[in-house]
Amino acid sequence: MAAKILYIEDNPDNMTLVKRAIEAIGHNFIPAETGLKGIDLASEVKPDLILLDINLPDIDGYEIARRLRASDLEHLQYVPIIAITANALKGDAEKALEAGCDVYMSKPINIRELWARVDALLETSGKTDA
Ligand code: MN
Repeated sequence: MAAKILYIEDNPDNMTLVKRAIEAIGHNFIPAETGLKGIDLASEVKPDLILLDINLPDIDGYEIARRLRASDLEHLQYVPIIAITANALKGDAEKALEAGCDVYMSKPINIRELWARVDALLETSGKTDA
């Protein structure tokens, strides 16, 4: 079953790469280039999974995760979130998890790892037959 996957990311190269990777496995891809647009789209389309960059031009990914988890919409309190960031500093993973993300991936994005994590989280939340 095709899932709706929202990616909040300001880097066009990563956006293109991930769009191709997500569409290659049959899911619907929804892009958002800023944090605030991402939060609006999340409320509007109720994605099955959110991929979240941490460094964004307006509000950072930690703040986005916190706002989604504090949403009045129950869907956004529980939607799986994968944090994706270039910050390899120790503590970033913990910070992403504390903010409400389910898992953490480092850039550069490894497509096989991305597919594996997307599959695993969609399966856990009952969105695929796999
Ligand atoms: Mn960024």
